[in-house]
Amino acid sequence: MSQKFDVVVIGAGPGGYVAAIKAAQLGLKTACIEKYQDKEGKLALGGTCLNVGCIPSKALLDSSWKFYEAKNGFSVHGISTSELNIDIPAMIGRKSTIVKGLTGGVASLFKANGVTTLQGHGKLLAGKKVELTAADGTVEIIEADHVILASGSRPIDIPPAPVDQKVIVDSTGALEFQQVPQRLGVIGAGVIGLELGSVWARLGAQVTVLEALEKFIPAADEAVSKEALKTFNKQGLDIKLGARVTGSKVEGEQVVVSYTDAAGEQSITFDRLIVAVGRRPVTTDLLASDSGVDLDERGFIYVDDYCTTSVPGVYAIGDVVRGLMLAHKASEEGIMVVERIKGHKAQMNYNLIPSVIYTHPEIAWVGKTEQTLKAEGVEVNVGTFPFAASGRAMAANDTGGFVKIIADAKTDRVLGVHVIGPSAAELVQQGAIAMEFGSSAEDIGMMVFSHPTLSEALHEAALAVGGGAIHIQNRKKR
Ligand SMILES: Cc1cc2nc3c(=O)[nH]c(=O)nc-3n(C[C@H](O)[C@H](O)[C@H](O)COP(=O)(O)OP(=O)(O)OC[C@H]3O[C@@H](n4cnc5c(N)ncnc54)[C@H](O)[C@@H]3O)c2cc1C
Repeated sequence: MSQKFDVVVIGAGPGGYVAAIKAAQLGLKTACIEKYQDKEGKLALGGTCLNVGCIPSKALLDSSWKFYEAKNGFSVHGISTSELNIDIPAMIGRKSTIVKGLTGGVASLFKANGVTTLQGHGKLLAGKKVELTAADGTVEIIEADHVILASGSRPIDIPPAPVDQKVIVDSTGALEFQQVPQRLGVIGAGVIGLELGSVWARLGAQVTVLEALEKFIPAADEAVSKEALKTFNKQGLDIKLGARVTGSKVEGEQVVVSYTDAAGEQSITFDRLIVAVGRRPVTTDLLASDSGVDLDERGFIYVDDYCTTSVPGVYAIGDVVRGLMLAHKASEEGIMVVERIKGHKAQMNYNLIPSVIYTHPEIAWVGKTEQTLKAEGVEVNVGTFPFAASGRAMAANDTGGFVKIIADAKTDRVLGVHVIGPSAAELVQQGAIAMEFGSSAEDIGMMVFSHPTLSEALHEAALAVGGGAIHIQNRKKR
C-alpha cells in the first residue's frame, strides 16, 4: 500500500524545509522529498541556500573580510601585525563545517517536528500523486492531499563560457577554490558575481568583472549604485560595463576570454573565471506530462499571488516561481501556502521584500527607488544621511556610504529605504518593519534611537526628509 500524507513537499531548500516544518507544526502529516547529496554522498537538506548559496558565501565573505581588515584596516587603530597569512583550505574547511552544522540542523528539526524525510527524486503525477525514485532506482508512489513544489534553481550556463568546474566555474565552484587565483574573471555584476568577486579580491586576486549591461546594479537606487561603483573601483575591482562575452578558450590553467565593448573586440586572460549570469528554475523531470501544472513563458511554474498552480491542491514556491530569487522570499511563501492549506487567512507583501548585497560596503534596500517612483509620477521627499557624519561609524572607521529614505510628498509615508554602508542589511530591515506598519518619515524621526549606533543614520535620514536632520546641514529648510 502506498504511503499517504496531508502534505508532500518536493525540495528541502529554504522554501521547502520551512514549509514542511510549518505544516507539521500545524498538525499536518508531512513528508519532504530531497535528493541532494553532499561531497561524502550523504543526503544534505537545506537546498542551495545552506549548501552552496547564502550561508557558504557569507562564511567566505566574513573570513576574507577579517583578512582584509587585518591587512588594511588595523594600523589606523594602532594595531600592527608582523606577518599575516591566509590558509585557504582552512578557510574553505570552516565554511564546510558551518554548512554541515546547518544542514544537520534541518534534519534534526524535521525529526523534532515529525516531518518524514524521503530521499530521492520527486516527480508530480496526475491526481496529486508523487513518484519517488530512490538513488538505487526503486520507485514508490506517494499520495498527498496537498503537494508543494519547491525545486529551486540552478546556475545559468552560457555557450561562450562552458563551466568545467576547474578553470571556468559557476558559483558552486567559486566556493571551493583551494588557492587564491592571481587573475580572476567574473562574468556578471549581479549579487552573486559581486559577492564572490569580493571574497577573492580581498584575499589578493586581481578581479575583473565583465557585465553586459551598461548600468551597474540596475535594481538599486541610482544614488546607491553610483556610490557602489565608485567604491568598488577604489577597492581595485575592475568592473567593465557594456562588456559582452563572446567566447573563451581554456589553455592549461588559464582561460582567454573574448568580449566586445564600446571599443570593439577585446580579450583578457584569467587564471580562473566565475560565470555568474543568473539562475534558472529547476523543472527537469519534475512534472509528468499529464500533471496539469503549467509553466509560464520564462519556464517558471505558473502561480498566482498565493502560490497556487494551475492544479487545485498543488502549490509552488521559491526560486521555481516568479519573483525575486531570495531565500527569505522562498521561506515566507512556504509559510503562506501552509497557512492557507489550513484555511487561515495569509498573504505575502511582495512589495516589502528586502534585497541585500553582502559586499563591503554592504548594499540593501526595501521598497521603491526614487527613479521608479518618479517614473510612476509620485511626488517624493528624500532624506539622506552619510555615515561620514555618524559617530558610531567613525569609531568603527567605517564611514563610507549613506542612508536614503524616500517618502511620499503628500502623505509622508515611507516608500523606500536604501542603504549603502556598514550593517546596511540590518538597517534596511528596520525600514521594512516601519514600512510594513505604514510609518511616515516623521514617525521614524520621532522615535528614540540608541546612541551611538549606526541606526541613528536611519533616524537622521528620516528627519532629513522633512528638513529636520540635526547632525548634517539640511538641504531643505522647514
Ligand atoms: C552563491 C549564492 C549566494 C546566495 N546568497 C543569498 C543570500 O545571501 N540571501 C538570499 O536570500 N538568497 C541568496 N541566494 C539565493 C538563495 O540561495 C535561493 O533564493 C534559495 O535557496 C531558494 O530556495 P528554494 O527553496 O526555492 O530552492 P533551493 O534552495 O534551490 O532548494 C531546492 C531543493 O530542491 C531539491 N530538488 C530539486 N528538484 C528535486 C526533485 N525533483 N526531487 C527532489 N529534490 C529536488 C534540490 O536538490 C534542492 O535541494 C544565493 C544563491 C547563491 C547561489
